[in-house]
Amino acid sequence: MTINIPSHVEMIIDRLGSAGFEAYAVGGCVRDSLLGRKPEDWDITTSARPHQVKALFGRTVDTGIRHGTVTVLMGGCGYEVTTYRVDGEYEDGRHPKDVAFTASLEEDLKRRDFTINAMAYSPGDGIIDKFHGMEDLKAGIIRCVGNAGERFTEDALRILRAVRFSAQLGFSIEDETQEAIRRMAGRLQLISRERIQAELDKLLCSSHPEYFRKAYELGITKVVLPEFDAAMKTPQRNRYHQLSVGEHTLKTLGQIRADRVLRWTMLLHDLGKTETMSEDPDGTIHFYGHAKKSAEMARRIMKGLKFDNAALDAVTLLVTYHDFPFEISPKGVRKAMNRTGELFPALLEVCTADSMGKSSYAQETYLPKLELVKKYYEEIKAAGDCVALKDLAIRGADLIAAGMKPGKEMGRCLEECLELVLEAPEKNEREYLLEFCLKKQDEK
Ligand code: ATP
Ligand code: MG
Repeated sequence: MTINIPSHVEMIIDRLGSAGFEAYAVGGCVRDSLLGRKPEDWDITTSARPHQVKALFGRTVDTGIRHGTVTVLMGGCGYEVTTYRVDGEYEDGRHPKDVAFTASLEEDLKRRDFTINAMAYSPGDGIIDKFHGMEDLKAGIIRCVGNAGERFTEDALRILRAVRFSAQLGFSIEDETQEAIRRMAGRLQLISRERIQAELDKLLCSSHPEYFRKAYELGITKVVLPEFDAAMKTPQRNRYHQLSVGEHTLKTLGQIRADRVLRWTMLLHDLGKTETMSEDPDGTIHFYGHAKKSAEMARRIMKGLKFDNAALDAVTLLVTYHDFPFEISPKGVRKAMNRTGELFPALLEVCTADSMGKSSYAQETYLPKLELVKKYYEEIKAAGDCVALKDLAIRGADLIAAGMKPGKEMGRCLEECLELVLEAPEKNEREYLLEFCLKKQDEK
């Protein structure tokens, strides 16, 4: 069996081979090629030691020399070439205490996480598959190499990787591997929050974000996002919902584009319902103020997972306005555009996905309204209406020139002008707004 490998990778394998070393493409790139997916990067495993690799190639970078990894640069691309190794004992459930090199490809493949990730390939030898990776790939199964419990004890990150690969590939997780995850999910506490975030990102942005359910069923969210477990246990009985908060959340994940900010927004948008639930005497359930509560929780959760500020701010804003608390009118839409800025189109996507996750009654109610919002939005854009301070017909400098003192009061006055113009765009006129401000000042 042959797979298509890039010419650079073939050159690297050839050159190592001519120098008397073994070398193979390995791991994710072999898996993805066999699946007909485009590999993100090509990793090479070799019997050569790092100094021997460096001696054979003109341009190299010592990316992980302690772990045996040298990056070989070719034609503007980097290829990680790593010496065959066995991992030493794991003391903290994450970092191997020491790394030992080995002369055996099989030993190197044995330390890898899943059978589908433990295959190697070279044009000369074809596929090397010591752990029935090909079989599992065909059957769509994620299975640990060796004893699952031991493998998760060595490195708890593999627990999340199992669910992440299952979501990316649409695979099931083999029973023993799954049972070991259930038993050992608590060890995820040992893993850094950055790494947890990175795996959750990949899971959420996969083609099966609804597999997040698996993370819940296997006890993973209990450790990394306990608020989600609470949402799964929060019922919703009203005209708009038939599903629990958690089930509704999972449904909305599948209704939105695979974008990090959008998927995280859907995951977090209703978590505040758990804490804002109230019940009428007739059993109807309400969640007054849940959007604000959810936004607070989103901020806290994302901080905890060490998100960058840009993503954190965007998600928090989208969660705050996810139930579109604006009038369905040109005026309301201008206000919404002002409050959300460049995120307004994303907000429309969030509102649509949210509606799609609700009862058919709710869909019939909300989707036509959202269509109307979109229509107004297009009209506002076409008209070039002012929706931000920067589009206002006057600026601070104009007010100063007219004799106003710079400072807080002036800023407040400009804000008031903007609110006026959001209500009535025809008022965005220099003379009119100047007069409005000066009159305000006189009233003081
Ligand atoms: P992708 O790059 O799409 O996330 P990948 O399979 O290439 O998938 P990487 O994290 O790039 O994943 O790792 C490359 C290879 O290294 C894996 O295919 C696997 O063989 C091995 N590997 C990575 N992380 C681990 C781990 N935590 N435990 C055991 N083996 C691992
Ligand atoms: Mg990779």
